Amino acid sequence: MFKTGQLLTLSVHSLTDKGDGIASHDGKPVYVAGALPGDEVEARVTLAKPRYAQAELRRVLTPAPGRCADFCPHTACGGCQLRVMDYATQLELKRGLLLSALEERGLDCPVGDILGMSEPFHYRNKTQFAVQPGPTIGFYAKHSHQLVEIELCRVQAPVTAEITALVRQWMREWAVPAFNEAHHSGCVRYLMVRDGVHSGELMVVLVVAEEPAAPALAALVELLAQVPNMASVQLCLNEASGNRVLGQQVRTLWGESTISDTLGELQFDISALSFYQINPRQTEVLYREAVRLASLTGNETVFDLYSGIGTISLFLAPHAAHVHGIELVPEAVADAERNAGRNGTDNVTFHTGAAEQVVPALYEQGLAADVVVVDPPRKGCDEQLLNTLAHMRPARLVYVSCNPKSLARDAAWLNEHGFELVQATPVDMFPHTMHVETVALFVLK
Ligand code: SAH
Repeated sequence: MFKTGQLLTLSVHSLTDKGDGIASHDGKPVYVAGALPGDEVEARVTLAKPRYAQAELRRVLTPAPGRCADFCPHTACGGCQLRVMDYATQLELKRGLLLSALEERGLDCPVGDILGMSEPFHYRNKTQFAVQPGPTIGFYAKHSHQLVEIELCRVQAPVTAEITALVRQWMREWAVPAFNEAHHSGCVRYLMVRDGVHSGELMVVLVVAEEPAAPALAALVELLAQVPNMASVQLCLNEASGNRVLGQQVRTLWGESTISDTLGELQFDISALSFYQINPRQTEVLYREAVRLASLTGNETVFDLYSGIGTISLFLAPHAAHVHGIELVPEAVADAERNAGRNGTDNVTFHTGAAEQVVPALYEQGLAADVVVVDPPRKGCDEQLLNTLAHMRPARLVYVSCNPKSLARDAAWLNEHGFELVQATPVDMFPHTMHVETVALFVLK
């Protein structure tokens, strides 16, 4: 039996999906945040359950080979789970996560080297800070709703720190209250900053539960407009309870309603509410690999399923006869159509709806794809969609996945229904986190 406060000496053997170390004690798992596979640690039990325990890391007795110094002064922040693991070891770990997910499903295919970043810092183009009374502007601590004040975050654009400081100063000077979750009162809930990595343009979205007074808003705009490259200041009203960051109402306080950025040769307008890839440098790496694996000659009809704002469709379009993008969210489809126009692409058509409904309907009307690209959310593809693809029999299926487990499940299904998984390449889109992206190629058997 575990006891709260008990001191244990543990050998950590693996990590949970959330990046906590797992060790065994008397045949039962003990979870230790901040411990790495290969570490021998001393830890104190904080939660004792009959079948498992959680323990707090007290001391590293023998460090794992990949252990390194923490790169961030905000030790309590729960944002980067792998910050004490050196980058080369992180990449190896992520490739291993893909390998073991495939192996668990009995799949054996060549897994390429993971495509990592040469400079794995300041890679994010979007920050969403929570704001709580204090005012504290920052990120949540691990497994908690406790906010950790963030001065400078190593994975965000450095200018974010300047913007945070200005908003903090403004809240103090104008006595603008932060939102209080417990009482559902107050004003400022979140601060979102977006930057165009290539354009340099900046967007700030202040998310509030109630409209601040007009003079206070004018002062905020004056402060933010002085930041070099500021292009858009927006106010987003979110009165709802719950953890959803953005409300549906957004108003431009200053500048444009969108910022622009480029991916490869293509230009995109990004509005406050649209989904846009978070790590644009690695997005180019990911999309290039997807285009390469699609091996298009210019004569193909291509389906890009789960197409978002049309980024992959527009990457594929110059190499295909026609691309059909299919996406659930109407606003994203509207963005995709605008983006096609902006880039002068006329061989793409976007369809709104669930891929598992639209693809069977199109197929019934006689429209089939020679090559299919899918980029589903974490849960993977719906079986109804896979069924239609098994009947349609495209020559190649390129699967972009953000979750090795659902990829492996779908790969096992496809393997039994006429396709062969011929290669999988992991791509690191989120250094210092447990996330791993994969591009996989299936061909007809
Ligand atoms: N390919 C895009 C978006 C990938 S994110 C890019 O690279 O940016 C996954 C997308 O799938 C989201 O835009 C989401 O709205 C959409 N989506 C979720 N479920 C869907 C479904 N059942 N059918 C079609 N699209 C769906």
